[in-house]
Amino acid sequence: MSSPTALSPQPAPRSYEVRTFGCQMNVHDSERITGLLEAAGYVPAAGAEPDLVVFNTCAVRENADNKLYGNLGQLVPAKKRNKDLQIAVGGCLAQKDQDTILQKAPWVDVVFGTHNIGSLPTLLERARHNDEAQIEILESLEVFPSTLPTKRDSAYSGWVSISVGCNNTCTFCIVPSLRGKEKDRRPGDVLAEVRALVEQGAVEVTLLGQNVNSYGVEFGDRGAFAKLLRACGGIEGLERVRFTSPHPAAFTDDVIDAMAETPNVMPQLHMPLQSGSDRVLKEMRRSYRSTKFLGILDKVRARIPDAAITTDIIVGFPGETEEDFQATLDVVAASRFASAYTFQYSVRPGTPAGEMADQVPKAVVQERFERLVALQDRIAAEENRAVVGRQVELLVTAEQGRKSGQTHRLSGRARDQRLVHFAVPEGAETPRPGDFVTVTVTGAAAYHLVADPRGPQDYAVRRSRAGDAWDRQEAASCGVPAAPGAAGSRPVDLGMPSLPVR
Ligand code: SF4
Repeated sequence: MSSPTALSPQPAPRSYEVRTFGCQMNVHDSERITGLLEAAGYVPAAGAEPDLVVFNTCAVRENADNKLYGNLGQLVPAKKRNKDLQIAVGGCLAQKDQDTILQKAPWVDVVFGTHNIGSLPTLLERARHNDEAQIEILESLEVFPSTLPTKRDSAYSGWVSISVGCNNTCTFCIVPSLRGKEKDRRPGDVLAEVRALVEQGAVEVTLLGQNVNSYGVEFGDRGAFAKLLRACGGIEGLERVRFTSPHPAAFTDDVIDAMAETPNVMPQLHMPLQSGSDRVLKEMRRSYRSTKFLGILDKVRARIPDAAITTDIIVGFPGETEEDFQATLDVVAASRFASAYTFQYSVRPGTPAGEMADQVPKAVVQERFERLVALQDRIAAEENRAVVGRQVELLVTAEQGRKSGQTHRLSGRARDQRLVHFAVPEGAETPRPGDFVTVTVTGAAAYHLVADPRGPQDYAVRRSRAGDAWDRQEAASCGVPAAPGAAGSRPVDLGMPSLPVR
């Protein structure tokens, strides 16, 4: 192939759009997909019709495949209009369905799995060159995904994978068969990525894995996760460290100690319960029991009194009786979760639970689900009311509440991850996403807190490197060069709201 000469017109860069379904792991994989595409010369479509659409799919939720094929079908007219449009499908559903995707949607150009994200640009190129759909699914990981270029969604907060895959075999979960056995990344690599993020301006990092506290099992260090948390504590400029998700069975006291003794590890814990019935936990092949679960919460609260604990709960697992469900309600009442992700059990093909005979009728599941949500909402509202009157430091987020247009409040996350909508007093400085504000909580609901300062005396802004990074990112996205020495300098005020709507 000849290379372009100085006189030949440069082809316009191809534009892309990534559509993400599913969990945080997928959101982070999409950041890698975006990074890879941009490294290969693609540019974001930014609302215009893209030259490439990538679906990063999820196989966990009910009807995931119907939704994918619905979305793919909607692209047929665009594909007819634009012969150069390419469509790629990756993620868990691609890993699971493999060539079925091309049988059902032959207008797709590339199918890639969860273990070979890095091949996407090459597969797209090959599909274009050969004019033939490409499918590449690997059964195991070749390159740890974090070694791929990544384009972060947020200037102030980043996700860092510490492991992928899972060695557990929960009977409702498809992850082990799609993401494979746990693979741990070396601590030095994890910490280097955290440092690099902080250098780019991030003040918050969330360590990510299917089962973070078994981190180290692959290289034979059972205490590796606690050590990793403590090492994050020594990274200058890193103000907030979070992690998700641990597993109650493998959650050890050294992790609780590391959380309590490392000031930048936030007082927040997501601890998936799934069911409060020991019989159902056994059927789910989750090796802890409710007493152990409640014991972990007691220990965490003894060491970190203000910890906000959240959870995941599945209602209507096959064979769940009213008595089993009551046991879940009892554990929820005793646990006082700050919030809970509640799911109605649905058959996930390919999982052992999907084959179980005694599936609970949908109407029964729905009725139990509503009782659980009512109980948890009451508890969350009570727990949130207990925070009213307290001073909290918030990391200001780019996302705003649904009613922010009417209330003129901005939003931030407290150290314990609670969502707080706050007002900026008249004449006071408006913070940028990534800056910190200190406010006193004045109101509470089940899903958020409110802070309406009476005046500038109740409100303090701390400008941060992350806010500067936000300014730079915004300036770059609209082609305006960032002000030199952004740190400490005010951005030019054009009379426009300084918090962009994302
Ligand atoms: S711990 Fe269980 S639910 Fe979590 S990823 Fe592993 S198998 Fe799935």
